[in-house]
Amino acid sequence: MYELLIKKSFDAAHKLCGYQGDCANVHGHTWTVEVAVCGSELNSIGMLIDFKELKVVVASVVDQLDHNYINDLPAFSANGEEGNPTAENLSRYIYNHVKHNLQQSHPGIKVAKVKVWESPTSCASYWEED
Ligand SMILES: [Zn+2]
Repeated sequence: MYELLIKKSFDAAHKLCGYQGDCANVHGHTWTVEVAVCGSELNSIGMLIDFKELKVVVASVVDQLDHNYINDLPAFSANGEEGNPTAENLSRYIYNHVKHNLQQSHPGIKVAKVKVWESPTSCASYWEED
């Protein structure tokens, strides 16, 4: 198997509903997203997927979050299907977007894991078992 990993950072605000503490107030983070993909077949020039292509796929979801108040996005609003915009829920949200996108363009490539860092010392990961 081969695994590729890219990183992308964005700035966004959020608040956590139902949380007792500072995070119930609107505040911002510089978030860093790591997306790892894997597969067993390389193309004719020795690549699993062009890093540039993977970055475009990841940007297509992360750019919607950048410089936004995440709680305002329909998926993370009070009635949204993704729940509170925690690092955990964001990692699953990004995972599902990248997975859906790659299923169409690169069916042989799986999303191995998505990590969302909300500070240099705190991150959450989401992945799915085979
Ligand atoms: Zn926060």
